[in-house]
Amino acid sequence: MKKYIAALALLAVSYQSFSQDVNKLIKQDEVEKVIKTLSADDMEGRATFTPGIEKAAQYIESQYKEAGLVPLTGNTGYRQNFTKTRIIAGETTVSINGKALPKDSAFTFTSAPAVSWSTNNDVQIVKLSSGKNFRTEYRSYAKSGKKMLIFVDPSFATTFEGLRDRLKNGVIADKMNNDQQLVFVLGNHDDVKSFEVTYTGKIVVSPLFNIVGMIPGKTKPEESIVFSGHYDHLGILKPVKGDSIANGADDDASGTTAVITLAKYYKKLNSNARTLIFVAFTAEEIGEFGSQYFATTVDPDKVVAMFNIEMIGKASKFGENSAFITGFERSDFGTILQKNLEGTAFKFYPDPYPQQNLFYRSDNASLAAVGVPAHTISTDQIDIDELYHTVGDEFSTLDVANITSTIRAIALSSRGIVAGTDTPKRVPKLDKSAQ
Ligand SMILES: [Zn+2]
Repeated sequence: MKKYIAALALLAVSYQSFSQDVNKLIKQDEVEKVIKTLSADDMEGRATFTPGIEKAAQYIESQYKEAGLVPLTGNTGYRQNFTKTRIIAGETTVSINGKALPKDSAFTFTSAPAVSWSTNNDVQIVKLSSGKNFRTEYRSYAKSGKKMLIFVDPSFATTFEGLRDRLKNGVIADKMNNDQQLVFVLGNHDDVKSFEVTYTGKIVVSPLFNIVGMIPGKTKPEESIVFSGHYDHLGILKPVKGDSIANGADDDASGTTAVITLAKYYKKLNSNARTLIFVAFTAEEIGEFGSQYFATTVDPDKVVAMFNIEMIGKASKFGENSAFITGFERSDFGTILQKNLEGTAFKFYPDPYPQQNLFYRSDNASLAAVGVPAHTISTDQIDIDELYHTVGDEFSTLDVANITSTIRAIALSSRGIVAGTDTPKRVPKLDKSAQ
């Protein structure tokens, strides 16, 4: 019994020292400084392929350097560079029955550099009538591999214009072939006897970069743990009350701030058994391309766990000192974290929004697909968050105390995994042939 009490006392002491470290080493004013910088207007919303994201990348690099991280094995700096082929759509001109349609009333989606149709039997004429689901229809066209002339009902004008402008700014051309040519025309044309279509687009190879640094493990360096967030956001949107910058303060400057803060924390402790990899992912908002690339650069079997942090800027639906974990039931990652927080004020919950499919809506999915217990930690009330993906997601709306307490909770709850004493169960690899 005495022994037992002594062991308990020792446990209490070591626990206390952990919490003291966390509170001492993770300071709210420092958290505030980082997130304020990342979400400032001069980062222009950090859209992938823009000067704004370059600025954010440089800032994150300076923070990694300050923390004392080293580049990933095989890299000379913190940038993990890769490229993607993008289509920058040019003008589409359309004539129906000999009559030219107004400028901007059509756009083309194809990876072919040019399209030239003249009442062509290969082209299928399709109507996207009102009441249909634009997304579902669009997906089925995109999967068809066909040439299609699609007349879009005017009730879809806003979606049509949004898509047209996105294509003008450039989209990634993964999984497309040149035979697939979709020409969208706004308006109903019932009696199409003849048509002419011309289009030219630009195909460019554009650079992207994750920002990656690590702290090599002291005793189990071959096993690694990933802490991540995405530093890209949506850039410039349509102005609302004179504001057009989507600052992405919560989404996901908050997660990126957590990554930087945890890097500094763990480097100060400098006692990690396993190797810690800190990643700020690019291009999450346009298709999780940064994490997909990262997943190809590591041996996933050696990645013990992934803490992806996404939107921790405001209190969760469970109140202060709480967060949720996506895909909670898929491994025992969540219960390990919960166990390490016993006796503290902070609590992790399973994702309360299973219908939102959040597990597959962030960068953790790219590593979960290859078997890593990879989960996202969030506090966002996604079902009622009116600022989500708007120009209103800015620093002034954040609860910095919530961000700080969540980062502290991640630091405390990850300590067993970092020390090599806790190892979450693997998740089943995604069967690629079933996709
Ligand atoms: Zn996000």
